[in-house]
Amino acid sequence: MSDENKIIKCGTHGQAGIAFACSHLIQGRERPLGFFYTETDEENQEPQAWCGECEALLAGAGDWTDELLERANIRVVCEFCFESLRKFHASPT
Ligand SMILES: [Zn+2]
Ligand SMILES: [Zn+2]
Repeated sequence: MSDENKIIKCGTHGQAGIAFACSHLIQGRERPLGFFYTETDEENQEPQAWCGECEALLAGAGDWTDELLERANIRVVCEFCFESLRKFHASPT
């Protein structure tokens, strides 16, 4: 099953598939923050990523609570922006 609506128009990359990332990853471009992400499968087609700080909170809470979602402030990014976030934040300091 494919959903053709899951496309965004990125200012940098043009039309691309969507992905999600926490606002810390998107805004924190000065140093790597860690990169944790969901595997994609048939039910979960858009990759979602979050930073090391969100991961620590998630581990403490056990699941994505409303409070955690509010802190993470997950945003939609294009799949190419997602890859560039991955390269930046997953790199060792
Ligand atoms: Zn985060
Ligand atoms: Zn992009």
